[in-house]
Amino acid sequence: MNLKTLGLAFLDLVFPPREACPFCGGNSTGAQVCADCRRTMEGYLREPFCSVCGRYFTGSGRHMHICKDCRETPRPFLLARAAGPYEGLLKDAVHGLKFHNKRGLASHLAAGMVAAARAETGFNRVSAVVPVPMSPGRLRERGFNQADLLAGEVSATLGLPLLKAVRKIKETPAQTGIGRRQRQKNLQGAFDVPDRSSVHGRVLLVVDDVITTAGTLEAVAGILLAAGASLVLGLAAASGRTGL
Ligand SMILES: [Zn+2]
Ligand SMILES: [Zn+2]
Repeated sequence: MNLKTLGLAFLDLVFPPREACPFCGGNSTGAQVCADCRRTMEGYLREPFCSVCGRYFTGSGRHMHICKDCRETPRPFLLARAAGPYEGLLKDAVHGLKFHNKRGLASHLAAGMVAAARAETGFNRVSAVVPVPMSPGRLRERGFNQADLLAGEVSATLGLPLLKAVRKIKETPAQTGIGRRQRQKNLQGAFDVPDRSSVHGRVLLVVDDVITTAGTLEAVAGILLAAGASLVLGLAAASGRTGL
């Protein structure tokens, strides 16, 4: 260590550099999540959600049960969870990651996702982590797939292999503002599994950024099961709310 670096190290000690919380931008030490945001994230783990798809309840449905969509049509995945509802802190963070290239947020979001997964014994059976793919055209536009980044962090934390087993072979229109049936129709034939042997007999954890109706997760789970996977679970940074 020369005199200059020694001097800088001393300055850091006396005047620690002001670093910002990755979520709210507020003061924090070592660019870690600040105490307020940590409390918010921990609070999400106690929010009532559908025990199948993991979406959070609104209004009168604010207690643990199975949501109407999951009661009416059985899901192809065993269960899905998210770090919290797609609003406030998590909505901002997912937007930052997707649209403002704040890739450093992936590890902090993944920490919340892993906490949600660890609260559920079903996730113990997972043997590989599969990101929801992006079409090649969309990937060229954005330069990265946020689900890849999240899946990479989740797989590293859980010590499980990252398996990019699914390809998106059809561009699909934006899924916002349309009903469940139309979403399902749009996603028909959108995905494939080029190497079926890579998924055969395995319990797979599909990772996405947001679960809205769980239509994308259903389509990806369906194609993985058809390719021979034995079970599929889902995990997202955030999930929507449902009334019933
Ligand atoms: Zn914060
Ligand atoms: Zn549900």
